[in-house]
Amino acid sequence: MVVIGAGMIGAACADALATRGMRVAVVDRGPVVGGTTGAGEGNLLVSDKAPGPELELAVESLRLWGELAGELGARALEYEPKGGLVVARDQRAFAELRASAELQRAAGVTAVDVPADGLREWEPHLAPGLAGGVHYPQDAQVQPALAAAALLRRARATGRVDLLTATAVTGLAKGRVETDAHGTLHCGAVVNAAGTWGGEVAALAGATLPVLPRRGFVLVTEPLPPLVRHKVYAADYVADVASGSADLQSSAVVEGTAAGPVLIGASRERVGFDRSLSAPVLARLAAQAAELFPVLRDVRVLRAYRGFRPYLPDHLPAIGPDPDRPWLLHACGHEGAGIGLAPATARLIAQLLDGEKPFMDPAAFGPGRFEKEES
Ligand SMILES: Cc1cc2nc3c(=O)[nH]c(=O)nc-3n(C[C@H](O)[C@H](O)[C@H](O)COP(=O)(O)OP(=O)(O)OC[C@H]3O[C@@H](n4cnc5c(N)ncnc54)[C@H](O)[C@@H]3O)c2cc1C
Repeated sequence: MVVIGAGMIGAACADALATRGMRVAVVDRGPVVGGTTGAGEGNLLVSDKAPGPELELAVESLRLWGELAGELGARALEYEPKGGLVVARDQRAFAELRASAELQRAAGVTAVDVPADGLREWEPHLAPGLAGGVHYPQDAQVQPALAAAALLRRARATGRVDLLTATAVTGLAKGRVETDAHGTLHCGAVVNAAGTWGGEVAALAGATLPVLPRRGFVLVTEPLPPLVRHKVYAADYVADVASGSADLQSSAVVEGTAAGPVLIGASRERVGFDRSLSAPVLARLAAQAAELFPVLRDVRVLRAYRGFRPYLPDHLPAIGPDPDRPWLLHACGHEGAGIGLAPATARLIAQLLDGEKPFMDPAAFGPGRFEKEES
């Protein structure tokens, strides 16, 4: 088995496959987590997902993250089951938020309505005047680079996983993976876990997968005493995530970290692989965060970083065999949720490769769905 990509998804797949006794070579043209996994945040969210296949995948994935924290140790992943608090600015937004939480509850999510006068008990530094919120105890976080490295380490400890970094895949055909540094690798199946570059890797096999980059910036403040207890964001973030527009969307998601800095994410825009820092986008994120937590107004930002989310047009990942090449399984295009969705994605891939009944119907993630749209 060859897994292309040593990001969060490739690491989770390698771990799941090796645990089942399969031999795996993980190939990456860069280092471990040199792609989007090393350039984003590690929110594990059910709160921002509407009922449907992605939420089903997320609920299972969060359960698996909890299991992984038990097996590997929460510290190894910087796993914090801290819960999320989604807040509404006005009564209309609060009514919509409550209605959406009602639907999520029916899909297995725990969601507790919080009236306006209860918000400060959850987050003492929240701005006054908010209309209310919903608390989601299942939301959690990990440190993505640490978590991916920990999963790869465990996979390699089985003795069944080779890790080939600084090795680009240059060609793909049934039974053969061509690389620039290690010649031809022979294998029964290939997992395309190349994230934002999943479309390029698919093309090496003559397949089509329309993965595009969706840029995001994150602000990192100076280390602070504990100010923000949960992941906190305004309800309009959900609309930003779901937007298909190429234009800038931003609404702050604010979270404290064990090390002290507060992370403020994240913008969304489709501007190709443009790496230039955008001061207006950073200023907008900072202003939105200070609107939620006025105490952040006087805090210094130490740095900002950016990454490119792997975006597919319907915001769902591609998980499963290529329609015309059953030996090629795609596991890419998770956009802004690839950390959260990694363990359940890996479980689906392992079950499909093992010929086992998958824990959920993966049809909505079928990589062939875009071909149908085009024809
Ligand atoms: C600002 C920002 C904030 C985010 N916040 C969150 C969050 O809070 N929660 C969440 O769940 N997700 C979040 N995400 C999204 C998350 O980071 C991604 O969905 C996830 O990292 C994708 O992982 P991956 O393994 O698919 O891709 P990557 O980590 O990009 O790994 C793909 C790998 O494939 C390799 N590769 C590509 N082409 C080749 C080739 N030809 N040969 C060999 N190797 C190749 C690359 O080098 C790369 O290492 C965020 C993203 C950004 C940018």
